[in-house]
Amino acid sequence: MPIEKLIIDQDVADWREVASLSKRLDVPTEFVDNVSDVYKQVSSADDPVQKGKQILLITTNKGRFIKRCPGTRNYNCCGYMILHIGTFCNMDCSYCILQSYFHPPVLQYFVNHRDMHAELDEAFRIKKTKRFGTGEFTDSMIWESWTDLSTILVPKFSNQSHAVLELKTKTTAIETFKQFDHNRKTIMAWSLNTDRVIKNEEKNTTSLSARLKAAKTCESWGYPLAFHFDPMVLYEGCEDDYRKVITRLFSTVSPENVVWISLGTFRFMPALKPIIQQRFPDSKIIYGEFILGLDKKMRYFKPLRLAFYQKIVNWIRESAPDVFIYFCMEDDEIWKKTIGFTPTERGGLAGMLDSSAVRHCGLDS
Ligand code: SF4
Repeated sequence: MPIEKLIIDQDVADWREVASLSKRLDVPTEFVDNVSDVYKQVSSADDPVQKGKQILLITTNKGRFIKRCPGTRNYNCCGYMILHIGTFCNMDCSYCILQSYFHPPVLQYFVNHRDMHAELDEAFRIKKTKRFGTGEFTDSMIWESWTDLSTILVPKFSNQSHAVLELKTKTTAIETFKQFDHNRKTIMAWSLNTDRVIKNEEKNTTSLSARLKAAKTCESWGYPLAFHFDPMVLYEGCEDDYRKVITRLFSTVSPENVVWISLGTFRFMPALKPIIQQRFPDSKIIYGEFILGLDKKMRYFKPLRLAFYQKIVNWIRESAPDVFIYFCMEDDEIWKKTIGFTPTERGGLAGMLDSSAVRHCGLDS
C-alpha cells in the first residue's frame, strides 16, 4: 500500500536519517509538535487501520528498543527478544493481529538509533545466547526502500558472537543484503502460506514463488534461513495445498541451512473479528470451528489442530528429517503427539532454539 503522507515529529526534524528518508519517500510532508495529534487524526478516520497504513510517522522510541516477547501463559513460549524498531505495516493481511493490537495502529519508524545501539551493546556484553527479531510489531523488511535499517543492523550483529537477528517478512526486499559481510548472524526468514491464503488473505504481499526465490538467493549469499507456517488456515483441500508448499520449499532451499520452522494455526482475539468482517467482507477466515483458548484467543478445535499438525510435521520430516520444528503457542499435548516430546523434556523451547542458532549461525555457546 503506498504511503500518502510523511509526518515528522518536530523533535527529529533536522536529523540526518530523517532527511534521507524524506528524500527517498518523496511524498507530501507535515511536521507535528505533538505526535498524539497524529494518533487522534488516525483514530477519527472512517477506517483507522487503513489510515494508519497510509501515513508514515517518524519519531523516537520513548520506551525500550529491546523487549521480551510477551508470550502467552499456558502455552510454550519461544523466549525471543523483540527489537522494537517501528510499528505496523503497509501490507494488509486480513488476519493481522496488529490491526487490533495498537490503539490506534500507526505506521511509525523510530530514528533514535543511538539509544538502540546503546541497548544492543549492553545486551551483547552479556555472553549468553540471545535471539532478536524485528518482526513482532511490524514486518521486518518493509523499511528497506526508505531507510538504512539493514545497513545498521546486519553489520552490528555480524560483529559479535552470542546473538542472532531474525528478519521475518512477506516481502522480497533483499537487494541490499548481497553486500553485507553478515557472518551468519542474520537469519532471513519468510512467512509461508498456500497460494490460496496468500491471494485471499494477504493483500499487498508477495507470491509464494517470489518468497521462495528470495530465500534461495539469500541462501546463495550465505545467510541462514528460517520459515514460519503461521497462520495456517484450515479449509477444504488445505492439506494438499500445505503439502505442496512444503515440497516446493525443500526443492528450493537446503534443509541443512534452515535454522528453524515454526508452525501455528490461525487464532485471533475476539476484538479482531469485527475488524476483519468490516475490512475484509469476502474473507471466510473467521468462520471455522473455533473455541476460546486459555490465552483468550479463538483457536481451531484442538482435535482438528492436532490431526492437521501431525500431517504437517510428517511431511516436513520426509524432506528435512533434522530440521528444528516448533510450535508458536501450543501446549505440551500438541508437542507430545506431533513432535514426540515436550519442550521441558529437552531443556525448554528457548534452550532448543538457542542450540539451533548456535549450530547454524556459528555462535559461541
Ligand atoms: S505482513 Fe505481517 S505485519 Fe504486515 S499486515 Fe501482514 S501479518 Fe500484519
